[in-house]
Amino acid sequence: MVSLFPITTSDASEYVTNYDRINVIGNAPPRAGIWKRTPTVVVCEDAPITKEQVTAAVSLWKSLGHNFFRTQYKYDPLHKCKQKKPVGYITIRLVTQELALDEDSLAETHFYIDNTSRAVEHAIIYIKLGIPETVLEHELGHALGFLHFNKINHLMNSKWTQGGWDTKGLANKRR
Ligand SMILES: [Zn+2]
Repeated sequence: MVSLFPITTSDASEYVTNYDRINVIGNAPPRAGIWKRTPTVVVCEDAPITKEQVTAAVSLWKSLGHNFFRTQYKYDPLHKCKQKKPVGYITIRLVTQELALDEDSLAETHFYIDNTSRAVEHAIIYIKLGIPETVLEHELGHALGFLHFNKINHLMNSKWTQGGWDTKGLANKRR
């Protein structure tokens, strides 16, 4: 089985870099960080997703109690899509050559978490063309600080083929 949802960080964040070694012994997905400010989602000009796709994905997370300041579809007056560290933002972009994403991978999310405060500062979601359902939702989960949870049919399952729409443990407990 190949891992379809790698997750890496472009910046040093010990907790997340070591995600592979976090044992899921509990019955809920581990959460590495929490947004302390309400993030804005920006779908970048090159992102191969529709407005409907992002609306559906954001709505799912909203229904789980997560807050978003706003969602901007291919509208980026502050040029957050060009920034390596779009603090306060979740940007969604087309995967780039430099990322050297595995052939089997559909997407990758880079996020930065402050190790001391555990605050998520920013996240960049890179996606390939023609992603199947649940991928954008799964990656948004990473952008919100969640790690993999390999329960069959779970949204945060590391393998897309074993994942699904189960959102157990993904509700936002901090309000
Ligand atoms: Zn993943």
